[in-house]
Amino acid sequence: MNNSGILYVVATPIGNLSDLGERARVIMSEADLVLCEDTRQTTRLLQASGITAKTRSFHEHNENKLLGWVLQRLSDGQNIVLVSDAGTPLISDPGFPLVREARNRGLRVSPVPGPNAAIAALSVSGIPCHRFCFEGFLPSQAKRRQNALRALRKESRTLVFYESSHRVEECLKDMVDVLGPDRSVMVGREITKIHETFFLGSLDQALHFTRSDENQRKGEFVLVVGGNPNVDLEWQRACELFDRLCPLLPSSEVSRIVSETFSVNRKRLYRRMIEQKKG
Ligand code: SAM
Repeated sequence: MNNSGILYVVATPIGNLSDLGERARVIMSEADLVLCEDTRQTTRLLQASGITAKTRSFHEHNENKLLGWVLQRLSDGQNIVLVSDAGTPLISDPGFPLVREARNRGLRVSPVPGPNAAIAALSVSGIPCHRFCFEGFLPSQAKRRQNALRALRKESRTLVFYESSHRVEECLKDMVDVLGPDRSVMVGREITKIHETFFLGSLDQALHFTRSDENQRKGEFVLVVGGNPNVDLEWQRACELFDRLCPLLPSSEVSRIVSETFSVNRKRLYRRMIEQKKG
């Protein structure tokens, strides 16, 4: 462990190459090896940034095969960088088996944080971002996508999705159908690139905007969807009823009545009651 090298997980730009941080540049220049999702893509970045480094392809189709080889090099003391084509590795990108196995073996793993499309979009969305769920890509098959959205219908936190140009319109259509036309959404397209566009409005308006202009279906997308505003309201009402009934009935009875009246979780009500008693 002491003489082992470090696996650096390095974030790279999601569009604008100037977003490569100075620490990322130095670590990549000094590393023994840079593992890339696509060596051509990363070589372009390295050349543009004046970095010479030894690269090797490491992607979802060969990562399990190369795992032992990479771990041995780390154990031998080499410093190895993991990058993906763009953004932060592992976030809808390869690398998870390597990081998990390096951790299991007690090897050092260190991040070089930087660009990430989801966080970039959230940070400019104007939609609450103090609590959010990152959902990555929805299933490509329509039925499975609609089911995945159905499972998220009651989520009160902001939802963040990745989407490609092939499916952005279909995906917005399914969101309108399953989550309702009025939910707020920010469609972030080509973030940090020449054609960067942000559209903020309701799901219905976003679908119309995307449909009516072919250019708005080109490039890469992040969809930031507001959480279900009614869920918090329902919880609030449930708590009010709970507090009114508590002095009158046993708490198990109150939990049952309230959870049947509103669709709120009985255990959650019970936890709240315990916390109130403690507090
Ligand atoms: N690991 C990356 C990250 O940290 O953001 C994400 C990789 S994932 C394979 C690629 C998806 O991220 C794209 O299909 C798109 O949904 C989103 N994305 C990446 N770059 C983007 C950009 N510049 N603008 C909008 N979305 C982007």
